[in-house]
Amino acid sequence: MATYNELIKLGNEEFHRAGIEDADTDARLLLEYLTGMDRQELLLHGDEEADSLTEEEADNTDGICVKYQALLYERANHKPVQYITGMADFMGLRFHVDENVLIPRFDTEFLVEEMMREVGDGSSILDMCTGSGCILLSLMKYKNDIHGAGADISRAALDIARQNEELIFSTQGIKSPQHISLHNYNKEHKPVDWILSDMFENITGKYDYIVSNPPYIQSEVIPTLMPEVRAHEPRIALDGDMDGMKYYRIIAREAAKHLNRHGKLFLEIGYDEAEAVTKLLAEHEYKDIKILKDYSGNDRMAICTT
Ligand code: GLN
Repeated sequence: MATYNELIKLGNEEFHRAGIEDADTDARLLLEYLTGMDRQELLLHGDEEADSLTEEEADNTDGICVKYQALLYERANHKPVQYITGMADFMGLRFHVDENVLIPRFDTEFLVEEMMREVGDGSSILDMCTGSGCILLSLMKYKNDIHGAGADISRAALDIARQNEELIFSTQGIKSPQHISLHNYNKEHKPVDWILSDMFENITGKYDYIVSNPPYIQSEVIPTLMPEVRAHEPRIALDGDMDGMKYYRIIAREAAKHLNRHGKLFLEIGYDEAEAVTKLLAEHEYKDIKILKDYSGNDRMAICTT
């Protein structure tokens, strides 16, 4: 038996030993997830026995302590918290994730925020390499009447994206650890076209905007990434081939055919890819090519028109 505070301490120590960066935060997050308590409640009940919440749990050999240790084990093996809890926050919304999709990144919020400035209500958007669907679905949530299409080569990813469409547009939303819905309003939306497609192979329509956060890491860099990324995130969502540019080349070649007049292309790019992507887009005669920096001051995004 142990108190909640003792469990957090245990987690913290175990994560320190395993070299986990945010040891204390992660130890708390996992306990919040397991108990359904929020940060404040955990502070308030910190000195109580974790397994004595209900009689049933106290008797249960598979109580909180045992379950918590199983979660600690997963995290100590560098599984990201989001894959353990199955939840990731992005643009103030809560998405479902598993190891078939990349965990939405804070850097990508910048891409969505830029697009929100640009995209008018009623527009059509294709999200190429949609993964969890987080880019497209947040745009649809915050704009009105968007016709959205999300394409991915992975059937498993599209299943997750479909679930996220339901979560984001249902009145309930996914329960946060606090068991409070983050999505408190239900908005009518046009159902998304989820398209199983190797890049543009099965894309027939034309759109006002195409957005993509394709795999863009150079193959040889992948083994040097954090174990959370290299051992747990889907390699097909990261690996942009030898020079990281494989998917930008396909997009540069194909996107113009699927954009309406005055359509725009928005790409997330790696911090060191601005020059190569600019050159590539110019070679394919895209206009008004702009590179934007993210909140950390790294080149993060390319925008252009046809
Ligand atoms: N930004 C991601 C990372 O740093 C890479 C995402 C991608 O390849 N699209 O791991």
